[in-house]
Amino acid sequence: MSTLIIAEYDQQRLRASTRSAITAAAVLGDAIDVLIAGENVGAVAEQIARLNGVRRVRVADDARYANPLAENLAPLIVSIANDYQAIISAATSFGKNLLPRVAALLDVDMVSEVTAIIDSNTYVRPIYAGHLNATVRNEAAVKIFTIRATAFEPAIEGDNTAAIETLAATEATSLAHWVGSAIQRSERPELSTASVVVSGGRSLGSAEKFQQLLTPLATKLNAAIGATRAAVDAGIAPNEYQVGQTGTVVAPDLYIAVGVSGATQHIAGIKDSRVIVAINHDPDAQIFQWADYGLVADLFDSVTELEKSLLH
Ligand code: FAD
Repeated sequence: MSTLIIAEYDQQRLRASTRSAITAAAVLGDAIDVLIAGENVGAVAEQIARLNGVRRVRVADDARYANPLAENLAPLIVSIANDYQAIISAATSFGKNLLPRVAALLDVDMVSEVTAIIDSNTYVRPIYAGHLNATVRNEAAVKIFTIRATAFEPAIEGDNTAAIETLAATEATSLAHWVGSAIQRSERPELSTASVVVSGGRSLGSAEKFQQLLTPLATKLNAAIGATRAAVDAGIAPNEYQVGQTGTVVAPDLYIAVGVSGATQHIAGIKDSRVIVAINHDPDAQIFQWADYGLVADLFDSVTELEKSLLH
């Protein structure tokens, strides 16, 4: 079975979620091609070519792909879709925006957020905010699906030397134009792939307190910072920090939940974490049902104490 992975990158670096998609595709067979579309993406194409498992990198290097506009990328993917039995992307904002368009243009169903691939037609995906896993069969001629990156180990760089091939750009849409982007650059690990995440809830009270308490702890642990939706809605934490059903799904080695109630929609985004630590002053808080370690304490005292007790 030949599979096409749609690559996602940021500032000349391939995203780890794309590497996870390559691992997922390996279950379907070893004919794995990766499509990278962008402007001046030669360096990223070379990174991809070195990843174990990649057969061929197809590069569409053109100014019209300088920004990841799904309206322009979908026709490009469709132009080579005949070569593949499966087209996969990670279930990131990029993939979730792009693949439904591809599926619609090809007039096939798509399956989203796959967490396990049983065989070429059969996949597992969470439903009801992760409370149940559905096993679904997809009989479409071209299988189109997004994978949940946290469910698959990222493919690693080896001594692979996949062929790199140039693709012609397809016509650009006149309906949608990229106006601009406001990107928060951070030295911290990326939330979706960080091995440690420190998250705060609404109880931190203000954006200043949120940063003041969580940043030193996260810095010491080289952690990404996350937040509940209630914290985001209250303006305490930025949107991109949101973890959960409608935010980022994480599965770090260590997840520290500070003043987080443990609502179902938050748990949906963290339950695959290896170790969950919760700090909450309410011993009956739902988060303790999920925590491996719980501290019943006031967060305003205990977070600083915890941070100070950690070695640099
Ligand atoms: P609260 O529920 O207000 O809980 C605060 C917690 O802090 C409490 O447990 C309290 O005991 C504790 N606390 C208070 N003060 C202190 C203190 N001084 N010291 C220690 N502990 C203290 N939520 C998400 O997080 N992510 C999502 O993706 C998401 N998606 C949603 C989608 C839908 C469709 C809906 C309806 C809701 C969604 N929510 C999501 C919201 C979710 O239901 C909860 O409202 C939210 O997670 C609660 O956030 P919280 O724990 O910060 O706040």
